[in-house]
Amino acid sequence: MPTTIPQQQLLEIIKNNVPLGFSIVDQDGVIVDFNTSAESITGYNRQEVLGKSHFSILHGSSGTETCPLLQKAIGERRTTIESESTITNKDGDQIVISVTAFPLVDEAGTFLGGVEIFRDVTGRKKLERERKNILAMFAHDMKNPIITSEGLVSRLIDEKTGKLSKKQQNYLKIIDANLHKVEMLISNFLEFSKFESKEYKPRTEVFDICNTLRKVIESSRIEAEKKNIQILIKNSDRPWPIQADAMMIERVITNLLGNAIKYSQPAGAITIDFSEAERDIFVHVTDSGVGIAAEHLPHIFDAFFRVNRETSGTGLGLTISKSIIEAHRGKIWVKSSSESGTTFSFRLPKG
Ligand code: ADP
Repeated sequence: MPTTIPQQQLLEIIKNNVPLGFSIVDQDGVIVDFNTSAESITGYNRQEVLGKSHFSILHGSSGTETCPLLQKAIGERRTTIESESTITNKDGDQIVISVTAFPLVDEAGTFLGGVEIFRDVTGRKKLERERKNILAMFAHDMKNPIITSEGLVSRLIDEKTGKLSKKQQNYLKIIDANLHKVEMLISNFLEFSKFESKEYKPRTEVFDICNTLRKVIESSRIEAEKKNIQILIKNSDRPWPIQADAMMIERVITNLLGNAIKYSQPAGAITIDFSEAERDIFVHVTDSGVGIAAEHLPHIFDAFFRVNRETSGTGLGLTISKSIIEAHRGKIWVKSSSESGTTFSFRLPKG
């Protein structure tokens, strides 16, 4: 590289060659710099935007509202914010950008403004959305034939259409169990797709989560009794009111308790306990089961992740549970060891 180029000029060259949009704003959100890639992403040229409000140019606002990202970077002086954001280009089209925003502070600590570095990810997002839609449509269309087949197989097994040999009965039971597995997978996948597309908004009400637990334990009793597993609720002599979507929270508890039973050895024990902080209620589901090895713990909430493919399941239950808890601004986590079993805990806002 020629060393004779003055530093200022070198910086300009880099700024205008870097394949990332680059925009600097002052303390009031007024654009003071805009590079070549920013011009091609947004359709605006540098001269058109300099001195104008970043918010009115890219977010079509009056200038009093703010860009959520820069607001955080400038207003809250957060170090770095990485996110996706939707902006409007010069033609009026909505484009999705992947952005890194950070505040500009000089050596003396004086706040000067903010920087956004961004790339256009509209095409990638569209492809992702199309892929997800196709999968969801495919799963949806598979559901009806599976349910119809299950109904017909069940009529055959019940000998409603004529006597069957032992061998025919056994084969049909295997077909029935497999159809049931596929149906479960499809239902869970459709639910997972719904959460992924962010279609789901909790319909919250105040209710006692301890009551929900009692209800779920009651409907899990047969499974627990089959394995001679004791289920105990601690601290259940008082209500534990939360503000949440009752049906969805029941889904989370059903999943955690179902797993605790499924991954417990016969004659094991499951304990459910509660605790609270200023704003939250905590629920802890502890089993004395097979545990989860440390190497698997970071992946346990990932979609389709399963430690052991020999047990029945879809690997989507925990992913769905995490989406539900996070949609309530809560948190779910796990502690486990192969010696002493597993505890899944979550926290939700108090009612
Ligand atoms: P599924 O149970 O349908 O496979 P989940 O998403 O509910 O799917 O769980 C993912 C994986 O996490 C399970 O396959 C299992 O390996 C592990 N897991 C979940 N809960 C427990 C538990 N209480 N004890 C041991 N392993 C568990």
